Amino acid sequence: MSDVRVRFAPSPTGLLHIGGARTALFNWLYARHFGGKLILRIEDTDTARNTPEAVAIIFKGLRWLGLDWDEGAQEGGGAKGDFGPYYQSQRMDIYKKYVDQLLAVDKAYQDPDGSVRFRMPRTPGVVKDLICGEITFDRTHEPDPTIFRKDGTPVFHFVNVVDDLEMKITHVIRGEDHLSNTHKHIAMFEALGATPPQYAHIPLILNPGGSKMSKRDEGASIGEYMDQGYLPEAVRNYLCLLGWSPKDNREVIAISEVVEKFDLPQINRGNARFDINKLYWLNGEYWKALTAEQYHAYAKEYLTQRGVDLSKIDAAYVTGVLDIVREKIKLGRDLPDWVEPFFNEEFSYDEKSLTVTLKEPEAKSRIEKLSAAFGGLGEWSAVKLEETLKALAAGDGVKVGVYVHPCRAGVAGRAVGPSLYHMLEVMGKERVLARLQRTLGKL
Ligand code: GLU
Repeated sequence: MSDVRVRFAPSPTGLLHIGGARTALFNWLYARHFGGKLILRIEDTDTARNTPEAVAIIFKGLRWLGLDWDEGAQEGGGAKGDFGPYYQSQRMDIYKKYVDQLLAVDKAYQDPDGSVRFRMPRTPGVVKDLICGEITFDRTHEPDPTIFRKDGTPVFHFVNVVDDLEMKITHVIRGEDHLSNTHKHIAMFEALGATPPQYAHIPLILNPGGSKMSKRDEGASIGEYMDQGYLPEAVRNYLCLLGWSPKDNREVIAISEVVEKFDLPQINRGNARFDINKLYWLNGEYWKALTAEQYHAYAKEYLTQRGVDLSKIDAAYVTGVLDIVREKIKLGRDLPDWVEPFFNEEFSYDEKSLTVTLKEPEAKSRIEKLSAAFGGLGEWSAVKLEETLKALAAGDGVKVGVYVHPCRAGVAGRAVGPSLYHMLEVMGKERVLARLQRTLGKL
């Protein structure tokens, strides 16, 4: 156990931004690597945006990413144990006490308009950042910042400093957008007679085009990845690579190994570039690596969330269908469409099946022959089905595709799908014959 104490201090904005999630992750990695503590503090003094829903979104995103914390805000707002919850909105008395302390020693003063301003030192502001190096800010013309507004509400910079002091934070790891304010924070620590924590500002995340990724950009919110059926482990792995790397070109890297290796000096100084294709690829790698049980559990949960009612479908059939579509897809988003023709006896026919495949003059007779041949099968297996279909094609002296296409359209209404023979095997004889009859009825 070390004395490392870091914190994630999100402002509830209504989404968990990918940059915020990465900040949370890097703090978590730092705490876990050094056996320290991660504190969660909700910076909710901006009452206009502060809703329980916005806070719930943060909890949900962190939990989804598998990030836990040791002290601070608890779900539902109730305190658990001795630690927290840390909601700035519940700590106003503490901020008042600290502002009085500054007023008493004349490090702050009352402005004629009723607000309180901090007396900014005019000496150069030096920030020794663990990632960005040493930076000096000229403060000759720096105005005295307001720390309490005239309506009695405290300003972000001040409460941020007071809480880092009160919570004995040793390392502030946060986005580079806060770097330019850090010299003010250090000055406030010093005015309060305290030693500031160490600072580590992590580089910004840029869009592929090079602009700063904002809340409105597509893919900026963790919620989008949850909805689209990305695997949390893949997203977390990807976030690790936004500024950090194991230095040996590996991209798929277990979180336990990242915890073991993670430290601040290895973080890139350059901005990280967001690359959705890489995340998509990584997700595919994690998708392939799921055990059958993990995959089934994930797929069923995702489909249920999407309103697919699996409760009335035979469990073995569900499992069989999930198995044959697995290799065709890389993430949950694709599941509903791929499984749809299996779970719906009233399946629809796609454009190609309707206008080409089933419009062939011979379509009807071929489906009739398939139906008769399949109906006579004793053993219903992919191997036997393949043999049977190929025998029909050979008998007519035509290519296999001549039977494959109407067969696929006849049983599922789709021009593309999983391997045909496995699909037929999983559907079972009764269902296949019934579906072929249904299609014949439409011709
Ligand atoms: N509430 C601030 C934010 O969300 C946190 C700043 C910090 O980590 O110090 O940007």
